[in-house]
Amino acid sequence: MTTHPEGTPRVDPSQQQRAADVLHRTDRSTSLIGTEDETPVVLLVDDAPEIHRLLGVKLRNDDLTLLSAFGGEEALDIAANLQPSLILLDLNMPGIDGLETLRRLKLESSTVEIPVIILSGSSTSSDKVGSFGLGATDYVTKPFDVPELRARIASSLRVTRLMRMLAQRAQIDGLTGLWNRAHLNDKLAGEIEQSQRNGDSLSLVMCDLDHFKQLNDSFGHPAGDLVLQSFAKILKAELRRYDVACRYGGEEFAMIVPSSDAESTIGLCERIRTTLENMTWARYPDMRVTGSFGVCTGDARHMRGPSDWIEAADRALYSAKGAGRNRTHVYDGESGTGKPPLRLAG
Ligand SMILES: [Mg+2]
Repeated sequence: MTTHPEGTPRVDPSQQQRAADVLHRTDRSTSLIGTEDETPVVLLVDDAPEIHRLLGVKLRNDDLTLLSAFGGEEALDIAANLQPSLILLDLNMPGIDGLETLRRLKLESSTVEIPVIILSGSSTSSDKVGSFGLGATDYVTKPFDVPELRARIASSLRVTRLMRMLAQRAQIDGLTGLWNRAHLNDKLAGEIEQSQRNGDSLSLVMCDLDHFKQLNDSFGHPAGDLVLQSFAKILKAELRRYDVACRYGGEEFAMIVPSSDAESTIGLCERIRTTLENMTWARYPDMRVTGSFGVCTGDARHMRGPSDWIEAADRALYSAKGAGRNRTHVYDGESGTGKPPLRLAG
């Protein structure tokens, strides 16, 4: 018996590509909030081609993308690479069987969180207990009732979505909807590592709204909150989907801008800065808001951990503040302080 019966493609290439596109999109969008409604990708693992045909037809109109694997090895491979939202797993398969596949899925950090529904011809208690013991989310006995399976898939996807949302919420700033400082620290470490690996440039921006306490005193805290929220909107509009914007604390913000050199990062800051400067506030006609920006760009091989990066960008920010605010300064590694960008320095 072979894992891939004659005439049965391992995986429909067009479907695989679509899933890869969907997942690529999902991955890119993790930097900004509000993207929990991507089409879920479900990986069906079963050695019987007729199950793939059956579910392919029955779930065709459901809001999900179905991927196929015909054996355990293939399933582990696809799961690790494409990170499906859910796995439907047959127990009785040649080669690595379902329980072993499940065990390996739960051993890998990249796949441990993916919920698994067992599809099995066996209704023995020991198979069920074994599956749940290894971390299965649900257990459906073949021959299954399609509406019931559909309901169980939907329920499992709902739980996963809620859990992800809760995990995400813990790293979201309530007022602005941007990421919070905890997320910045996590994310920055990862971006530095990646930049060190592939020698890509990386930029970190720290920015601070000018005279924010005075603004709160003059116009009141609702005005202050409106300013923070409006500034967050500007950041969301100007940043690429894989950039990361955080409210660092109070009126201080941070942006991680991967694969961006000093010049384009300065350009980005200047766009944000002038947009803010030119904003008019219907409820507070006399209010003007400006911000100062500190940019640190590097090839991360010469910089160490996140705290070095944050300190460097902070120094550039203080330098911008010291030079009169409402401007962008860049960190200069030689002097260890900030300075105006070259083309503006004259
Ligand atoms: Mg089977």
